[in-house]
Amino acid sequence: MSSSFTYQCTSCAEDFPSDSTMYLCPKCEKKPKEKLPPFGVLKVIYGYKDLIRFGITFKKLKQNRWLDLLPINNLDNLPKLNIGNTPLYNYQMLGEENMGFDLYLKDDSQNPTFSFKDRASALVSAYAKENGIDTIVTASTGNAGSSLAGICAAQGQKAIVMVPESAPIAKLTQIIMYGADIIPVKGNYDDAFDLSVNATEHFGWYNRNTAYNPLTIEGKKTVSFELFDQLGETLPDRIFVPVGDGVIISGVYKGFEDLLKLGIINKMPIIVAVQAEGSDNLVRNISTSTFVVKDSHTIADSISVNYPRNYYMAKDFIQKYKGDWLTVSDIEIMEASKNLAKHTGLFAEPAASAAFAGMIKYKNENKIAKGSRNVVLLTGSGLKDISSLQKELKIPDAIEPDIKYIER
Ligand SMILES: [Zn+2]
Repeated sequence: MSSSFTYQCTSCAEDFPSDSTMYLCPKCEKKPKEKLPPFGVLKVIYGYKDLIRFGITFKKLKQNRWLDLLPINNLDNLPKLNIGNTPLYNYQMLGEENMGFDLYLKDDSQNPTFSFKDRASALVSAYAKENGIDTIVTASTGNAGSSLAGICAAQGQKAIVMVPESAPIAKLTQIIMYGADIIPVKGNYDDAFDLSVNATEHFGWYNRNTAYNPLTIEGKKTVSFELFDQLGETLPDRIFVPVGDGVIISGVYKGFEDLLKLGIINKMPIIVAVQAEGSDNLVRNISTSTFVVKDSHTIADSISVNYPRNYYMAKDFIQKYKGDWLTVSDIEIMEASKNLAKHTGLFAEPAASAAFAGMIKYKNENKIAKGSRNVVLLTGSGLKDISSLQKELKIPDAIEPDIKYIER
């Protein structure tokens, strides 16, 4: 069955039909006087009652590769590349240490462009294909841009990527190699974001900006379906998610919320939002009624955000489903990154290591019950940003090619 859906504004709750491309709610997007995260992010709502009436089960959802819960009509419009379906690894030991609980690592660095963002890019690209759109633009700190560039290359579409001038060279290299047009923008991600929205209005391109395009959340939610499947149709107790813009965590929630609405699950796992101490604009403002911005500085560049683009939806999800949150320092992120790579063979980028650092912090504070099942989302490969690790690199001086030097 192809999917029928509507858009619902997360600010004013108004419903909109899905017969035309929509970004933010036209009523709520009007820029507020002071600088705030955007209002009016849209949520995609499916005909849950109809699906239940037609006897939907998780098995059927899986057989249809989630099409009943995706805003596209035909799976053939997705790229040929393997998107999602990433491995979930289980550990009781970390190095010499028996943790006393089950740790699961969901390795999304195995996506085609080595990051979680491919889940969103693939869906946006498929939607564009179905609607006769050939040019897609995005603002990006690097991962979303390299992802869009790669997916568009696979689909024969044109990608235009606006990045802050400080974006890591590995990500820029990827964008260029995939043949996308790259536009470095003076300023930060927020400046690139605003420019891409202006360009969308001006040139009529399709915009992939995270949260601004509601389909990004729909692509990202597929990770929750996979987790439920890989855990034998059961829920984990806890999922640690790295948070910048609040879109990945909203996607994780949205996937489980869809399953809740279909009666496939009857509760929400505890989802833990992990931000970098130096970029905590989402979690610092969860319990407050106002939004106060602090300038972001962290080695985890892909979660370094001043105005989280999906702040309100993420905050609503965390409050409604009693999620948890914490911050980790750059030092903790670096330590976690080394610990993870050394003990598992998984080399994650700093943003992903932040989620792992959050799990370690929880463990050290005895907040993880014995025998519980805990997932960490590893959202991107460590090779994406090695510059942040340069301080850690102590490469020994070269030796003469003589065995006696190795003995020393
Ligand atoms: Zn609205």
